[in-house]
Amino acid sequence: MEQDLRTFEEICREHGLKITPQRTAIYQELLKSNAHPSAIMIHQRIKKYYPNVSLDTVNRTLITFAEIGLVRIVEGRGDPKRFDPNPRPHHHFRCIRCGKIVDFYNEEYDALEIPAELKEKFLIISKRVNLEGICDSCRNSR
Ligand SMILES: [Zn+2]
Ligand SMILES: [Zn+2]
Repeated sequence: MEQDLRTFEEICREHGLKITPQRTAIYQELLKSNAHPSAIMIHQRIKKYYPNVSLDTVNRTLITFAEIGLVRIVEGRGDPKRFDPNPRPHHHFRCIRCGKIVDFYNEEYDALEIPAELKEKFLIISKRVNLEGICDSCRNSR
Protein backbone atom coordinates (compact mmCIF):
# COMPACT_ATOMS: atom_id res chain seq x y z
CA MET A 1 0.00 0.00 0.00
CA GLU A 2 2.81 2.38 0.91
CA GLN A 3 4.61 1.29 -2.23
CA ASP A 4 1.51 1.97 -4.30
CA LEU A 5 1.18 5.41 -2.80
CA ARG A 6 4.74 6.21 -3.70
CA THR A 7 4.04 5.14 -7.28
CA PHE A 8 0.94 7.32 -7.21
CA GLU A 9 2.96 10.33 -6.15
CA GLU A 10 5.61 9.64 -8.76
CA ILE A 11 3.12 9.33 -11.59
CA CYS A 12 1.30 12.49 -10.49
CA ARG A 13 4.56 14.40 -10.37
CA GLU A 14 5.61 13.10 -13.77
CA HIS A 15 2.41 14.47 -15.25
CA GLY A 16 2.38 17.70 -13.32
CA LEU A 17 -0.72 16.73 -11.37
CA LYS A 18 -0.85 18.33 -7.93
CA ILE A 19 -1.01 15.81 -5.11
CA THR A 20 -3.90 17.01 -2.96
CA PRO A 21 -5.24 15.21 0.13
CA GLN A 22 -8.49 14.62 -1.76
CA ARG A 23 -6.81 13.05 -4.76
CA THR A 24 -4.75 10.87 -2.46
CA ALA A 25 -7.89 9.81 -0.59
CA ILE A 26 -9.67 8.95 -3.83
CA TYR A 27 -6.73 6.89 -4.97
CA GLN A 28 -6.53 5.13 -1.60
CA GLU A 29 -10.20 4.19 -1.76
CA LEU A 30 -9.57 2.77 -5.18
CA LEU A 31 -6.66 0.70 -3.88
CA LYS A 32 -8.73 -0.62 -1.00
CA SER A 33 -11.40 -2.03 -3.26
CA ASN A 34 -10.88 -4.86 -5.69
CA ALA A 35 -14.39 -4.66 -7.09
CA HIS A 36 -13.68 -2.15 -9.85
CA PRO A 37 -15.67 0.51 -8.03
CA SER A 38 -17.58 3.19 -9.88
CA ALA A 39 -17.24 6.90 -9.21
CA ILE A 40 -20.46 6.71 -7.19
CA MET A 41 -19.05 4.01 -4.92
CA ILE A 42 -15.84 5.94 -4.37
CA HIS A 43 -17.81 9.11 -3.73
CA GLN A 44 -19.93 7.41 -1.07
CA ARG A 45 -16.81 6.42 0.84
CA ILE A 46 -14.91 9.64 0.29
CA LYS A 47 -17.67 11.90 1.55
CA LYS A 48 -17.26 10.44 5.02
CA TYR A 49 -13.96 12.32 5.32
CA TYR A 50 -14.51 14.99 2.69
CA PRO A 51 -18.19 15.93 2.82
CA ASN A 52 -17.64 18.80 0.38
CA VAL A 53 -16.29 16.71 -2.45
CA SER A 54 -18.93 16.31 -5.15
CA LEU A 55 -19.54 13.25 -7.27
CA ASP A 56 -18.51 15.30 -10.26
CA THR A 57 -15.12 15.99 -8.69
CA VAL A 58 -14.62 12.31 -7.91
CA ASN A 59 -15.59 11.45 -11.44
CA ARG A 60 -13.25 13.99 -13.00
CA THR A 61 -10.41 12.94 -10.71
CA LEU A 62 -10.83 9.30 -11.72
CA ILE A 63 -10.83 10.25 -15.40
CA THR A 64 -7.68 12.29 -14.86
CA PHE A 65 -6.12 9.26 -13.17
CA ALA A 66 -7.03 7.20 -16.22
CA GLU A 67 -5.58 9.81 -18.55
CA ILE A 68 -2.19 9.66 -16.87
CA GLY A 69 -2.24 5.86 -16.85
CA LEU A 70 -2.75 5.43 -13.12
CA VAL A 71 -6.01 3.53 -13.43
CA ARG A 72 -7.93 1.89 -16.23
CA ILE A 73 -11.55 2.19 -17.12
CA VAL A 74 -13.39 -1.10 -17.48
CA GLU A 75 -17.01 -1.69 -18.39
CA GLY A 76 -18.92 -2.51 -15.27
CA ARG A 77 -22.33 -4.01 -14.81
CA GLY A 78 -23.61 -0.69 -13.54
CA ASP A 79 -22.72 1.06 -16.78
CA PRO A 80 -25.24 1.64 -19.51
CA LYS A 81 -24.86 -1.22 -21.94
CA ARG A 82 -23.19 -0.58 -25.25
CA PHE A 83 -24.53 -2.35 -28.30
CA ASP A 84 -22.35 -3.18 -31.21
CA PRO A 85 -23.99 -3.71 -34.59
CA ASN A 86 -20.79 -4.71 -36.41
CA PRO A 87 -20.76 -8.49 -37.10
CA ARG A 88 -17.23 -8.57 -38.58
CA PRO A 89 -14.37 -9.60 -36.28
CA HIS A 90 -13.01 -6.34 -35.02
CA HIS A 91 -11.49 -4.50 -32.10
CA HIS A 92 -12.26 -1.36 -30.19
CA PHE A 93 -10.68 1.91 -29.43
CA ARG A 94 -12.48 3.68 -26.61
CA CYS A 95 -12.03 7.32 -25.75
CA ILE A 96 -11.87 7.69 -21.99
CA ARG A 97 -12.98 11.30 -22.20
CA CYS A 98 -16.07 11.25 -24.42
CA GLY A 99 -16.80 7.52 -24.21
CA LYS A 100 -16.79 7.08 -27.98
CA ILE A 101 -16.02 3.51 -29.09
CA VAL A 102 -14.47 3.17 -32.53
CA ASP A 103 -14.15 -0.11 -34.43
CA PHE A 104 -10.91 -1.08 -36.08
CA TYR A 105 -9.61 -4.13 -37.92
CA ASN A 106 -6.34 -5.91 -37.41
CA GLU A 107 -5.53 -9.42 -38.59
CA GLU A 108 -2.77 -9.90 -36.05
CA TYR A 109 -5.16 -9.13 -33.23
CA ASP A 110 -7.74 -11.46 -34.79
CA ALA A 111 -5.16 -14.25 -34.64
CA LEU A 112 -4.29 -13.80 -30.96
CA GLU A 113 -4.38 -17.10 -29.10
CA ILE A 114 -6.54 -17.43 -26.02
CA PRO A 115 -4.33 -18.59 -23.11
CA ALA A 116 -4.82 -22.32 -22.45
CA GLU A 117 -5.66 -21.85 -18.77
CA LEU A 118 -8.49 -19.50 -19.68
CA LYS A 119 -9.83 -21.89 -22.30
CA GLU A 120 -9.92 -24.62 -19.67
CA LYS A 121 -11.63 -22.51 -17.09
CA PHE A 122 -14.08 -20.47 -19.11
CA LEU A 123 -16.22 -20.89 -22.16
CA ILE A 124 -14.89 -18.13 -24.40
CA ILE A 125 -17.49 -16.78 -26.78
CA SER A 126 -15.73 -13.77 -28.15
CA LYS A 127 -12.32 -12.23 -28.30
CA ARG A 128 -11.59 -8.57 -28.73
CA VAL A 129 -8.73 -6.21 -28.14
CA ASN A 130 -9.76 -3.01 -26.39
CA LEU A 131 -7.53 -0.01 -26.70
CA GLU A 132 -8.16 3.04 -24.56
CA GLY A 133 -6.99 6.58 -24.94
CA ILE A 134 -8.00 10.04 -26.03
CA CYS A 135 -9.68 10.33 -29.42
CA ASP A 136 -8.67 12.81 -32.10
CA SER A 137 -11.50 15.26 -31.49
CA CYS A 138 -10.92 15.28 -27.72
CA ARG A 139 -7.20 15.82 -28.28
CA ASN A 140 -7.89 18.76 -30.57
CA SER A 141 -10.35 20.37 -28.19
CA ARG A 142 -7.81 20.82 -25.42
ZN1 LIG B 1 -13.12 11.58 -27.27
ZN1 LIG C 1 -17.48 -2.63 -32.37
